[in-house]
Amino acid sequence: MPLPENLIPNIDPEILGITRKMTKLRHDFHQYPETAYEEDYAHGKITDLLNEWDLEYEVMAGTGIVVTLEGLEKTSKKVIGMRADMDALRVQEQCDVPWKSRNDGKMHACGHDGHMATLLTALAYLKDHREFNGIIKFIFQPAEEGSGGAKKMIEEGLLKKHKISALYGFHNWPSLPFGKTAIHTGPVMASNTNFIVTINGKGCHGAQPEEGHNPIPVAFELGQQLCALRDKSAHENSEEKVILSLCSIESGNSAAMNIIPGDTKMTGTVRTYNLGIKEHLLEQISEAVESIASRFDINAKVDFPHSTSPTINSPEKAEVSREAMRGVLGEENIDWDAAPAMTAEDFGEFSNLVPASYIWIGNADPEDGESPHSQPLHNPKYGFNDDVIPVGAQYFVNIIKTEMPMTEGWDAEKPPKRLSRIINYIRLRISQLVIWIKTKFRFSFWKKKK
Ligand SMILES: [Zn+2]
Ligand SMILES: [Zn+2]
Repeated sequence: MPLPENLIPNIDPEILGITRKMTKLRHDFHQYPETAYEEDYAHGKITDLLNEWDLEYEVMAGTGIVVTLEGLEKTSKKVIGMRADMDALRVQEQCDVPWKSRNDGKMHACGHDGHMATLLTALAYLKDHREFNGIIKFIFQPAEEGSGGAKKMIEEGLLKKHKISALYGFHNWPSLPFGKTAIHTGPVMASNTNFIVTINGKGCHGAQPEEGHNPIPVAFELGQQLCALRDKSAHENSEEKVILSLCSIESGNSAAMNIIPGDTKMTGTVRTYNLGIKEHLLEQISEAVESIASRFDINAKVDFPHSTSPTINSPEKAEVSREAMRGVLGEENIDWDAAPAMTAEDFGEFSNLVPASYIWIGNADPEDGESPHSQPLHNPKYGFNDDVIPVGAQYFVNIIKTEMPMTEGWDAEKPPKRLSRIINYIRLRISQLVIWIKTKFRFSFWKKKK
């Protein structure tokens, strides 16, 4: 789809030029999708470009990359991070596009291929336009889809070692039409905590239940109690959305209808924007499991194997995003009041530690609900909208213009006045010293000769 005419004046022609190359690269990424910590193809493509551009970078979390780009002026202490995720999903693609996935059972069904291409477009532009004051870190993060890539990068020192003072990111958003954006001033996406309840009873013949301990009725009762917890929490916090979903239950064998199983496993997920509510709910889940175990005199335990922080925007950084997007899509296309999503995003690990802003950029075809661009994320028929690339890249560039303007009167050609005075003074003293040494040497030489 060609970029709408009305947007063209807002996007730097050079960015439009780079977009053509990066769209091809996006299709390459799409053809070879890779899941958590196996993003070797994407890693190789990105580092090839970085080597060609002679840029400094560090490899983190196995396949992740952090690129450092210094501005012409370095009087500011600001280090702005800009992040794209890299991983694909275990989904069998059903789109008929020339760049259809060639890795069976894997697909870029969340558009992270597009996120990488967008960040690379911004990088390709900014490396040649360093009229900013400070340092930018371009972060390519692996394993966003529930495998803790952000946490791993943080553990390896991403934020501390690179002294990142603020962070920006985006997700393409198929529930928003292309040309629109949603920017939140607080919660953007929920925290996600998965839980596994294991109930260990004793298996026996279905005709002799007194010989064993059937875990299935225990699981039924516990399931009802957990659902009631959700309703109670949602009611207590009417301002805050709370979700507790039971998602799977495994026990016994449907082909063996006369056998009472030994164990039952139940899994589910808890979603909320509020860390306090989350902690309280997890405590209540543990208490419910303990109390049911003692009431039925059975072994039962709960584990929380995976937990992410909610993605919360700092109001100040959201305002920077708004200013940056005003220059791309226009104020009238910024949704400032969109309801946050109950899905989780790894970016929350960053927004938990540094002021950050994470925005949604419309991906859907406004005129065609059947288009791949309009299909939900993680759907086998979903397709990333390539027009998001120049929009997102210009957004990142505008963030830098807003966050890191150069000092007024600062001239890239000449050093600042004070510095040049110091340099001239040192030069003068050195030349005086040289003259003094020369004179002294000649004099002693002449005296010796005499
Ligand atoms: Zn996803
Ligand atoms: Zn995603």
